[in-house]
Amino acid sequence: MRLSKYFLPILRDDPKEAEIVSHRLMLRAGMIRQESAGIYSWLPLGYKVLRNIERIVREEQNRAGAIEVLMPTIQSADLWRKSGRYDDYGKEMLRITDRHDRDMLFGPTNEEMITDIFRAGVQSYKDVPRNLYHIQWKFRDEVRPRFGIMRGREFLMKDAYSFDLSAEAGRHSYNKMFVSYLRTFARMGLKAIPMRAETGPIGGDMSHEFLILADTGESEVFFDSAFHDFDWSAFDIDYDNVDAVADVVQEFTSKYAATDEMHDVAAYEELPEARRITGRGIEVGHIFFFGDKYAEPLGCQVQGPDGKPVTIQSGSYGVGVSRLVGGIIEASHDDNGIIWPEAVAPFRIGLINLKAGDADTDAACDKLYNLFESQGNEVLYDDTDNRAGGKFASMDLIGVPWQVIIGPRGLKQGNAELKNRATGEREDISIDALATRFAN
Ligand code: ATP
Ligand code: MG
Repeated sequence: MRLSKYFLPILRDDPKEAEIVSHRLMLRAGMIRQESAGIYSWLPLGYKVLRNIERIVREEQNRAGAIEVLMPTIQSADLWRKSGRYDDYGKEMLRITDRHDRDMLFGPTNEEMITDIFRAGVQSYKDVPRNLYHIQWKFRDEVRPRFGIMRGREFLMKDAYSFDLSAEAGRHSYNKMFVSYLRTFARMGLKAIPMRAETGPIGGDMSHEFLILADTGESEVFFDSAFHDFDWSAFDIDYDNVDAVADVVQEFTSKYAATDEMHDVAAYEELPEARRITGRGIEVGHIFFFGDKYAEPLGCQVQGPDGKPVTIQSGSYGVGVSRLVGGIIEASHDDNGIIWPEAVAPFRIGLINLKAGDADTDAACDKLYNLFESQGNEVLYDDTDNRAGGKFASMDLIGVPWQVIIGPRGLKQGNAELKNRATGEREDISIDALATRFAN
C-alpha cells in the first residue's frame, strides 16, 4: 500500500477524551472513529488488525475441532422468554420492535439461539460431542462504555458453544477450549492468565477468565509468580488425547490466580511473600460450563445409547476479539506509539522514502516495494514528500514491526537502513541482502 493512496487519518495531538494509552494510540493512529458512545467505525488500519486477530482466533478454534457458523445480530425475543433471560437481562439488552410489533433484540450473546439450532439439527447420541462457534458483533448497552473499544457497546466476540452427553464428557470439551485459548493468546504475543471465575448456582470448577496484565485493566488480580515461569509458547497438542489436554489444564490451574471477585485471601497468603503478585488485568476471554441451563428449558435432547432421551450438557466460550486490539496495545507500546507483534501487525514492513521525487531513490523504493509484496509481505510504503522526521514519527506511532529506510546517501553505497520497531535497533543493510531478508 502506498501511503499517498491510503486512508490513514493520523492525529498530531492527543485526543482529550482518551483516558488510557490504547484508546489514545488507536485514535492517534487513525484506527477507529467513535460514532456514538461505545460504538466505533473501524478505519483501514484498525480493521486490518481486527481481521488478523480474528483469523488467529478462527484458526485456533478450528484446530481444536470447533465448527464455524454465523448467527444473526438481531434475534427474536421468543427463545429468550423460554429461557427466562428476556426479563433477567435487564437494561444491557437493546430491545427493538419491528413493524409488526414483534419483540426483537440485538444479541448480547447466543446461548438460546445456538441451543435451538443444535436441538433442531441433531437426533442421537452419535451427533455429540460438537462445538459450534461464530465471530459476530454483539450489542450490550453498558452503563459506562469507556476506554474506546475495550468496553464498547457494540463489539466483536468469538463465542463457541459445546454440546455433550454428560458433564464428564463436557469436561474434555471445556479443557480443549482452555488449551486453545492459551495457544490463541500466545500467538498474539500475550500471556493471558487463566483465573477461577464465578460458576453461579451450577458450582464446580469449570469457569475461567483469561486476563492479560495491564495497569489500566478493570479487574484487580492476585496470582502466583510461578505463572511467569511457565512455558507460554504455542505448544503442540493432540486435542483428541483426553489426558494430554487435561494435563495442560491441570498445570495452568495448579497455581493461585484470581480476580478480586474470587479472591481467597487465606489461600493467597499461603504463598511465600516473594511469589505473591498483585496488579490489574484485562479480561480477554471467558470459558464457562453451565450444564443443562439452556438445554433444559429449550428441550435440547438427543436419544441416548439406551434409546432414552438425554438432555444435552453445554458450555460457552467467549473471546473479546475487538477488545484484544486494545489489549495488545496496552501490553505492547512505548512513548512513541504502538509496537505490533508480527502476527497481528497491519503491515509487516514500513518502507520510508527519504527523498521522494529523486529518481534514483524512487526507483530503488519502487523495486523493493514490488519485491516485498511479491514475497507475500504487507508493506506500507511512505512515498509522500513529507519531512523525514514526520515520516519516522508516523511509522513509530502506527507500530509497523520493521522499517526500511531508503535515502540517496545510503543508496550510493548500495545500502538501506533497517530498524526494528520493538528494540529500536538499526542496522545498515545492503539492498541485495534486503531482497532475501523478508522472503518468508
Ligand atoms: P465483563 O466482565 O468485562 O463485562 P463479561 O463477563 O460480560 O465481561 P462475557 O460475556 O464472558 O464477558 O464475554 C466474553 C468476552 O467478550 C469477554 O471476556 C470480553 O473479552 C469481551 N467483552 C465483554 N463485554 C465487552 C464489551 N462491552 N466490550 C468489548 N468486549 C467485551
Ligand atoms: Mg459484561
